[in-house]
Amino acid sequence: MTIRDAIVIGAGPAGSATASFLAERGFDVALLERARFPRPKPCAEYLSPEASRILDRLGVTQRIETLGPAHLAGMRIISPSGASFVGRFVSGHGYKAHTGYGLALPRTLLDSVLADAARTHGAELLEDTTVERVSQEGASASVAVRTPNGVEHLKARIVIAADGLNSRTARHLDLNRRGGRRRVALVTHATGVADMTNVGEMHVGPRGYVGLAPVGHGLTNVAIVSDLSRTDPIGPPADWFARLVTEFPEVERRMAGAHLESPVRAVGPFARWTRRATADRVMLVGDAADFCDPFTGEGIYSALRGAELVADRAAEALNSDKTCARDLAGYDADRRRVFGGKWWFERLVSGAVALPAVFNHIVSRLARHPMAGDLMIGVAGDFIPFSRLLRPSYVWQLVA
Ligand SMILES: Cc1cc2nc3c(=O)[nH]c(=O)nc-3n(C[C@H](O)[C@H](O)[C@H](O)COP(=O)(O)OP(=O)(O)OC[C@H]3O[C@@H](n4cnc5c(N)ncnc54)[C@H](O)[C@@H]3O)c2cc1C
Repeated sequence: MTIRDAIVIGAGPAGSATASFLAERGFDVALLERARFPRPKPCAEYLSPEASRILDRLGVTQRIETLGPAHLAGMRIISPSGASFVGRFVSGHGYKAHTGYGLALPRTLLDSVLADAARTHGAELLEDTTVERVSQEGASASVAVRTPNGVEHLKARIVIAADGLNSRTARHLDLNRRGGRRRVALVTHATGVADMTNVGEMHVGPRGYVGLAPVGHGLTNVAIVSDLSRTDPIGPPADWFARLVTEFPEVERRMAGAHLESPVRAVGPFARWTRRATADRVMLVGDAADFCDPFTGEGIYSALRGAELVADRAAEALNSDKTCARDLAGYDADRRRVFGGKWWFERLVSGAVALPAVFNHIVSRLARHPMAGDLMIGVAGDFIPFSRLLRPSYVWQLVA
């Protein structure tokens, strides 16, 4: 049986980018995807400005631009009391993003482009191929897959699991943990949402929040995220969506004349992370490694940035033929170094969203200090380090 250098499980942003980065270095890579492209993925579909750097590196920016994405200039955050501020990516704070905007486009389009790029870089993309189990055997890993032709076994020197939020690989290898508040999301596309501009919006309510983002061609992505413990998941997702939207008066008013252009898709519950993203001959990347709250909206960036990190370490391991867990541990350290600040930011924002009085106060403070709002959105946009928000002068602006 052929032993490949690498098998990448899942052709979302993390898997496709990882396959590209390894294949372009000359490794023999198979990218396994259970779906067939184009496939939907419930998501608010906004990319932080820093994601554009990695899209450039993958050589897909021009292709994406031909698909007519929206260019978001920033984010507007609305608190339960109705206070709001707009944070802009281009500002006088001295930090510059790779682009002055965040791209927003349907995942059916984005993910197909990224999977195509993996193929162009030399990876073999196998669609309709569901991974059932990964076993670590001697010097290689064995991957049992179900295809329309039945069950097959593939082998590789290293397996990179990018199989998303409910990663079967992470579960089987006992690498993931569940924690924090369990949330569910309902996502759809609508036309005719009133008063949309070139900024994305986050409306926070008593039991969750709604994101509104233009994604090109007159479409608005509408994503409601709700606390599972405080939500009644009764009936089909569309009924559930219609009930929840009434908790956000501004959104309800602006959607009065809207038309839903795609089925309402439900996803969750989510809130999980891993303590380690490595095991013998296996590495996790993207949501398979960590998934937190989508409020700060950087999951796609983390998936792409994680792909850079995992590909560097996997290439090193393959070249030195050292693929045991202890040889791969440097990747866990890389992740802590690169994402550690952002994990803290996510936790703090998520905690504030759960405390309406605190959130109302912070938003009203940021409305009075536009530069402070721009800094906050820049951290969410991945081009300003979280540590910038810890300066006493900044904290003072939020609390005083
Ligand atoms: C409601 C919501 C809104 C969000 N909004 C945003 C946003 O606006 N901006 C942002 O940056 N992030 C957002 N995110 C997060 C973002 O969607 C994820 O972080 C991102 O998709 C992670 O990419 P990934 O490649 O790790 O996983 P995924 O995109 O989930 O891809 C995983 C792939 O693996 C495949 N797969 C799974 N299991 C198997 C298997 N056993 N065998 C073969 N293939 C398999 C799946 O079919 C899929 O194609 C949001 C998430 C949610 C839930």
